[in-house]
Amino acid sequence: MSAAGGLVRAVERAVDAGCRTLQVFTKNSNQWGGKAVVAGEAAAFRKAAADAGLAPLVSHSAYLINLASPDPLVRTRSVEALVDEIERCDAHGIPYLVLHPGSHGGDGEEVGLDRIARGLDEAAAKSPASGTTVLLETAAGQGACLGHDFAHLAGILARADSRPRLALCLDTCHVHAAGYDVVSKEGWRRTLDALDAACGLGLVKVIHANDSKKERGCRVDRHERIGHGTIGAKGFANLMTEPAFEDVPKILETPKDEEGKWDREGLAALRRLARRKSTG
Ligand code: ZN
Ligand code: MN
Ligand code: MN
Repeated sequence: MSAAGGLVRAVERAVDAGCRTLQVFTKNSNQWGGKAVVAGEAAAFRKAAADAGLAPLVSHSAYLINLASPDPLVRTRSVEALVDEIERCDAHGIPYLVLHPGSHGGDGEEVGLDRIARGLDEAAAKSPASGTTVLLETAAGQGACLGHDFAHLAGILARADSRPRLALCLDTCHVHAAGYDVVSKEGWRRTLDALDAACGLGLVKVIHANDSKKERGCRVDRHERIGHGTIGAKGFANLMTEPAFEDVPKILETPKDEEGKWDREGLAALRRLARRKSTG
């Protein structure tokens, strides 16, 4: 949800849309720095979210962060920015921080995975008292971005000493774009089995429920409204009736209209599909 006008406004927008959970940016998503957290504002956000029953809260980190960058300066800035994001989560009572694993920029997957693990460990060392869990998000596979293969995520988890502070965010649009089948019933099962074998399904703490404008395997990340894309109602029926994800929060990152009508429609579509389970 947009935090234009302050993070409390994001809570109000979520309540208006009928959400039970909320993802926000705690700072501008396209800038390195952000204005300092004001304790009173953070407390107001925590109270508003608690009063609205929104839980768990999720923050998405800024897009500039790239722990796998070939440029050591960018890596240093990325670690600092990640620490800042972690501290913002702690201040706002947000337990989960979504992070794009990063792009190796041509240096190769193994080097990239090493850099990401090292960056995560550095950030963890600089925020020792934090209760924030960093969620590595599954990627669509654009350019040299890592995380489109579940083996990448497993590789980062295996290399990181800060593993207890790490978990996963599954984005349906991204895994579809990466080539995994989430649409057919058998394909969904194979995809979940692959993720389970690589990382363990229990590590998935947040799901980004996004339909895709593009075909499976296109490796291009273009979100679409639920039921309007190439994943479609069939694919989201798999997600919404999946016992392993019953208690995992599902968040829309789909195109919005001015009035918030598209968000309400997206939520309604997902909830209809979830109810199908009991009626067969
Ligand atoms: Zn993301
Ligand atoms: Mn996402
Ligand atoms: Mn995306």
